[in-house]
Amino acid sequence: MTKIIVVGAGVIGTSVAYRLARAGAKVTVLEATRVGGGTSGISFAWTNANNKTPRAYFDLNVAGMRAHAALKDEFGATPWWHGGGRIEWRDQPEWAGQKAKVERLKSWDYAVDWIDRKQLLELEPDIAPEAIGDAPIAWYPNDGWLDPVVYAHAMMSAAQRLGATLRTQTRIAGLIAEGGKAKGVRSERGETFHADLVINCTGRWSNDTVGSAAPNVPLAPTVGFLVFTPPVPAGIQRVVASPICDFRPDGAGRLMLHWGSADATVTPEIGVNPGMEQAADLVERLTRILPGIAPVKPEAARVTIRPIPKDGLSAIGPVPGLENYYLMVTHSGATLSPALGAMAADEIINGRQRPELADFRPSRFF
Ligand SMILES: Cc1cc2nc3c(=O)[nH]c(=O)nc-3n(C[C@H](O)[C@H](O)[C@H](O)COP(=O)(O)OP(=O)(O)OC[C@H]3O[C@@H](n4cnc5c(N)ncnc54)[C@H](O)[C@@H]3O)c2cc1C
Repeated sequence: MTKIIVVGAGVIGTSVAYRLARAGAKVTVLEATRVGGGTSGISFAWTNANNKTPRAYFDLNVAGMRAHAALKDEFGATPWWHGGGRIEWRDQPEWAGQKAKVERLKSWDYAVDWIDRKQLLELEPDIAPEAIGDAPIAWYPNDGWLDPVVYAHAMMSAAQRLGATLRTQTRIAGLIAEGGKAKGVRSERGETFHADLVINCTGRWSNDTVGSAAPNVPLAPTVGFLVFTPPVPAGIQRVVASPICDFRPDGAGRLMLHWGSADATVTPEIGVNPGMEQAADLVERLTRILPGIAPVKPEAARVTIRPIPKDGLSAIGPVPGLENYYLMVTHSGATLSPALGAMAADEIINGRQRPELADFRPSRFF
């Protein structure tokens, strides 16, 4: 039986661990903190292929969306995935760009339509029409969002039911390599774990995890800043994207907010807290769209780093120069995880080269 170590239990590591365990591999997942304790725990997690180009990356993300929907047949219920759709309007200078995007997506058979204000208010009656003005409104019925930690836990638990082992609070300090082959990993506490294959799923920490023992894929990480309301009196059921801010439900009436321009105002080093000006500004923006939730203050603010390979695309597969080592690092992991987990497991167990991954090999960086 193939003995495989998966390092990192975010959405990516748990997805591949589940698929490998299902295929009969002996899987050990080693995680520095807890399941979903990394980037997956602080993600807007909109499942989509909306802004994804080139075509191969769009197709990969569509495969991710389909894989999330298909898990319902496998698990009976998928309480971690919400396919509620997404509403989008923009400021006038962006109308031409939005129209071009919608046309491209239609030509690629993506589910998208224009709706009017009346239709929007039927979908989301709490939105103030004044916030939209006369902007065109795009509706993406198959977009949705993921609760990534709930998903990662479900995948990990399913893998464990199939015999996989999970070790949390186990930080890997290095790769054991001999004669150009990965043989296992060494933990910070000095334990060694041997395997036929090591899969590095440590996201933004991928290079730190292996150091110079494996060739490093260059990353271009960006900072992400999210703000959370307390439970508010609004029945929002969808992802909403607007020039004022983006938001979506986050359970029990809470809303999660993101606004691209706010990302640049924070860093993980300075830390964030719900009392900070940037958090208050985002919630004030939200009340322009949902006036019925005022007065309200932020309940939480979180910052983290997106794990993005330098060219913005996924890096999935073997890494030249080191055998028995497989890397999986990507942005859009909330969308891609179930598809990437299945594809990677297929390659590893069955020795296939998945054509969907041809453009996303780590080898392009070397
Ligand atoms: C603000 C923000 C918004 C986002 N929005 C979206 C979105 O709308 N849609 C979308 O699809 N994606 C989105 N993403 C991206 C998505 O969240 C990530 O691609 C995904 O979470 C990456 O998952 P992962 O499993 O690769 O990494 P992680 O979740 O970071 O998992 C890596 C794990 O490795 C562990 N680890 C690290 N080092 C070690 C070590 N040495 N030893 C053992 N374990 C280790 C960590 O503790 C962590 O649990 C967003 C990201 C951010 C930050």
